[in-house]
Amino acid sequence: MTQAQLMVEGLAELLKAADRRTLAAVVTHLSGDPEAIRDLRDRPAIEATAAQVLPPFMLGMASPAAPDDELLQAAMDLAVGAPIPPEYRDYAREQTGIGPVPPLAPIRAPEDFRVLVIGAGASGIMVARTLDNRGLTNFRIAEANASPGGAWWKNTYPGCRVDTPSLLYSYSFDQDPGWPEHFSPQPALLQYLRGVVDDSGLTDRLDVDTRVTSLRWNETEAVWHVEAAHGDGSTSSSTANVVIAAPGLLSVPKLPDIPGRASFAGPAFHSAEWDHSVDLTGKRVAVIGTGASAQQIVPAIAPIAGEVVVHQRSPQWLMPHEKYGRKLTGLERDLYDRIPMYREWNRFAESWRFGDGTTPLVTVDPEWDDPRSISAANDRLRDELEKYIRREVGTRPDLLEKVMPSYPPFTKRMLIDNGWYQALLRDNVRLNTAAVIEMTPDGVRTTDGFDEVDVIVFATGFHADRFLSPMQVTGVGGVDVTAELDRDPQAYLGLALPDCPNFFLTPGPNAYLGHAGNGMFFAECHARYISECLRLMLESGSREIVVRPEAVRRYALETRSRLDSSVWNNPEVDSWFKGERKHIVTVAAGSVLDFWNSYRRVDVSAYDFAPRG
Ligand code: NAP
Repeated sequence: MTQAQLMVEGLAELLKAADRRTLAAVVTHLSGDPEAIRDLRDRPAIEATAAQVLPPFMLGMASPAAPDDELLQAAMDLAVGAPIPPEYRDYAREQTGIGPVPPLAPIRAPEDFRVLVIGAGASGIMVARTLDNRGLTNFRIAEANASPGGAWWKNTYPGCRVDTPSLLYSYSFDQDPGWPEHFSPQPALLQYLRGVVDDSGLTDRLDVDTRVTSLRWNETEAVWHVEAAHGDGSTSSSTANVVIAAPGLLSVPKLPDIPGRASFAGPAFHSAEWDHSVDLTGKRVAVIGTGASAQQIVPAIAPIAGEVVVHQRSPQWLMPHEKYGRKLTGLERDLYDRIPMYREWNRFAESWRFGDGTTPLVTVDPEWDDPRSISAANDRLRDELEKYIRREVGTRPDLLEKVMPSYPPFTKRMLIDNGWYQALLRDNVRLNTAAVIEMTPDGVRTTDGFDEVDVIVFATGFHADRFLSPMQVTGVGGVDVTAELDRDPQAYLGLALPDCPNFFLTPGPNAYLGHAGNGMFFAECHARYISECLRLMLESGSREIVVRPEAVRRYALETRSRLDSSVWNNPEVDSWFKGERKHIVTVAAGSVLDFWNSYRRVDVSAYDFAPRG
């Protein structure tokens, strides 16, 4: 049988496994005809058109052309099944890889112009790759850990995986290394990030086991003096003309202030510092916290632990997702590998579903006065989620009462159900909602009793609102930038700080989205913007770029006022979006498209440039 016959042979089966909307978008794009699909409900017609259009592309006899605006618009609408505003076209071209994407202008720097990138997580890797691609190649990446990977290197707890679809939670230039599951487990994500470092030629510019401890700006020389501590106990000093800090938003574990915490005699560790030498088989385990990490840990350890006591301070909203925790079937893998543009159009559809498609759910309707929700759409979602929770735990009224949140969905980060409710129903799992008041050498005391346990797991989150600590940064005039940022987290566009020439922080305050987008996407937006700032500085013959204090203040005020009316700004509900503060400091206002647009162009009036001496 020829290759062509084989192709046609398997095609019908493949098309049956395809997502109808994604397939309609692919067929429209590849046919070049915006009207190729007339009725999105007519699956047989979509498959029949696909059977005609796809073979030459699948056999390599034709290559997909970049669509014009009309064709792109038709395919975007089909991929989502609703009209998408035309403003999304350029975003779609870039973020899906459908193109064309105009190349970024090269950066020309003197040979001795050195850049230091701090951190080799998703953000640092992206910054380094972008600089390299634009020709600014004289940089080092300092990584505190023994490997690149950031959060995906640090977090190795049982059940750890991403809760955004992997074909979306990936850089736009490398969407699919052959993801094994729809929502990849941690090892696959770590492997992916390491692969990007290797494939981007960054390995020989990466210094692992190198923790930058302090940075001090030298005004006379216009350089940063850098101190670092290494894994072998040694220290080193260096200088850099520019520092781009990407230390990670969720990288410093937060341990709760519970009396007697240190007195516990057994193993006790944070979710991000999992002690794999501790065998939980048959053990009594207390898990403190019910956030995203705990939600993955409990279902993973419950089958082997003797007993698990989960200490909940507040319940979370969880959504089910049919593909969560599921491997790609052979046919699903084939769809991505064999049908040109299927992956890209799937990514666009997912970027809408996990992106601006959620806008009605998080936008407060000022006319809405029911405290259980913030808008009609949010209310409908709440009804659905409540029904889901009742279906899951309805047989246990005691549990139902404890797990049902009282606040509107999306006020805390929305989670995906990882088998949480099923785990809570197990005989060896108990959900305790009484406040934890003390830890003793033997266990955990709450307001309603004492549990003797062998192991305590702190799934209590991170110091997301301390952006630079523990790194000490000293800016112009000896300003303690770390302390200033801890006191009042403000940065222009969430990444440029006053008194810090030639310094960018990604992500800094209010430079993430709480409901949509994902870390890889944010990293791409920031890397583009920061590299563009450097290009403009160098092209103008300057040796310094520093943000104007008034630009920082204006941006902070504007962001604060936009966030005041957001779903996250509920005075009754705490989350890591606020950290230990009363207002939101980690997330940005607006949509995914707003976010993308914010970092497209540099408004030079926000910066001062100092000429080379
Ligand atoms: P988190 O969402 O901040 O949750 C911390 C949990 O600890 C909350 O349930 C909190 O209760 C509780 N807590 C804190 N102090 C406590 C105390 N003294 N007593 C009892 N409970 C206490 O932290 P996380 O679960 O590590 O997740 C952080 C973020 O990391 C996520 O939102 C997500 O962005 C990311 N993450 C992602 C994934 C994924 O992609 N699947 C997985 C893990 C983490 P309250 O709610 O009452 O404050």
